[in-house]
Order: sequence, then structure tokens, then C-alpha cells
Amino acid sequence: MKTIESVTGIRSALEETAGPAGRRTLVPTMGALHRGHMELIKRARQHAGPGGTVIVSIFVNPIQFDHKSDLDQYPRPVEADLEKCMAAGVDVVFMPRADEIYHPDRSVTVSETSLSRSLCGATRPGHFDGVCTVVLKLFLLTGCHAAVFGEKDYQQLAIIRRMVRDLDVPVEILACPTVRESDGLAMSSRNVRLHARQRADAPRIHRALCEAAKLARVPEILAAARAGIEGSDMARIDYLSLVDAETLQPAESLVHPAILATAVFYGEVRLIDHVRLG
Ligand code: AMP
Repeated sequence: MKTIESVTGIRSALEETAGPAGRRTLVPTMGALHRGHMELIKRARQHAGPGGTVIVSIFVNPIQFDHKSDLDQYPRPVEADLEKCMAAGVDVVFMPRADEIYHPDRSVTVSETSLSRSLCGATRPGHFDGVCTVVLKLFLLTGCHAAVFGEKDYQQLAIIRRMVRDLDVPVEILACPTVRESDGLAMSSRNVRLHARQRADAPRIHRALCEAAKLARVPEILAAARAGIEGSDMARIDYLSLVDAETLQPAESLVHPAILATAVFYGEVRLIDHVRLG
């Protein structure tokens, strides 16, 4: 396994790691790897085939964070991440430094202007511009033919697919289902920041979404999900929304398929989750 920390190094490293054409598959991450990430890496290996090249990028992208404290406190267990990548048969780990990725006077950003208006995009202005910009840069730097993303970040996946479609980016987008802890909590690198009581309480998010999704009318669904989450004095809802699965616009009546999605704060830690209806 090669570990590349420089932007200039990645191209030459990949040229030396000659795999069959069309079989270079990227898994973009911010590190603190857990089982969710490992499923993406497995999917990348299946897609690349034994002779292809699986690249994992580990980059805590500063321009997609809206709070400096969240960026500063984002976990960075580099040694453990490298061991996990090695054990999973990753060929190349790309860990660029932020000052190499972004020029101090950079002035070009990729903006998605429709799907990013709702959900996380509404409460985290500029977040998806940061995501699109870094993902396109990672595609260009690695010359990957395919890239794997998690359905856990449903809106992110939809926006990346839209970017690839609208800008004719020659990268196939593959998706993996959300991986959960045994109590239903969606795995996230941020879960390690929860205190024991918060961690024990957090599975209520998924439980509330699943129970609410059984109901028939939009106001009932939203009220039940809200009540289920706010049944805890530790959980604070950032947003809770039922949206059309394609357009991500709020659904006024029950359309299928739809997405019931939420972001919930436990203290400073923000967790997202969603369920699909229909
Ligand atoms: P992150 O490191 O949080 O930026 O996530 C990197 C990739 O892993 C993204 O495509 C996420 O959607 C995906 N991912 C994160 N958590 C999970 C999970 N619990 N299940 C499946 N994919 C996930």
C-alpha cells in the first residue's frame, strides 16, 4: 500500500500503480474510518477487480465546515486509519495537506443550486459548495473512473450525481447502504465524540424515523418523528423534513419515494439520519 501526502505525488504514484484501464476506484473520506467506510472500500475493490486500483482519500476538508470547533475537533486517528486501509487491501491512500489542496487566493468553486437548498444545505450555508469542490478536485487529481459514496449522506450523494451529470464528469458513482450499530444508530466518525449518556440515547433518532414512516399523512409523520426525537432532553433538532426523494423539495402530500431526514444535535455533535418511504 502506498501512502501519498502530496498533490504532486499522487499522479506519479498512480502512473506507477498501473492497473487495467477503467478500473481505478476512489473512496473519498474524512478519515476516522469505521465499518461504514469499510463497506465502501469493499465495494470499491469489487468494482476495481483484483488487478484494479483502490484509492482511499483521507482529507478533512476545511471548506465544508461551517463551525471551526467542529473542524478542530474532528477525530484524526491517522495510524489506525492506515492499518484499516492496509488490512482491507487498499492500494493507495491519499492524504493531502489542506494548504496544498487550496491556493490561498483560490477563486473558483463548484456550486449546486437546487438540491442543496433543503435539508443540510439550508442549515449549513456553503457546505455543499465545499463538498462539490473537493470531490471534483479529488476526481481530477486521482483520474478515477468510479467513486463510492454512502447513502447515509443522502443529499450529498444526490448532489454529487447531479454534479457528475451536469458537468459531464467521466466518473461512475456507486452507492452503499447505511451501515448501523446493532442498536440502529447510523455509524459516523462523530459518534466517538458523544458522551456515554448521549451515545445511549442517540439510537432514538433512527427509531423515531422508522416509527413515523409507518404513518400515512405528512403532518402526522413529522409530528411523530419530532416527538420521538424530542422525547429526550439531550437531543436538539436542527432540521426535520420530509422531501421528495428526487428533487429533495419538501413534500406537502405523501409522494413516493420520499425521504424523511433529520439532523440532531447532542451538545455540539451533529448527527444526521434518514429513512426512505415507499
Ligand atoms: P465521511 O468520512 O463522513 O466524509 O464519509 C465518507 C464516505 O463514507 C461518505 O460517502 C459517507 O456517506 C460514507 N459513510 C459515512 N458513514 C457511513 C455509514 N454509516 N454507512 C455507509 N456509508 C457511510
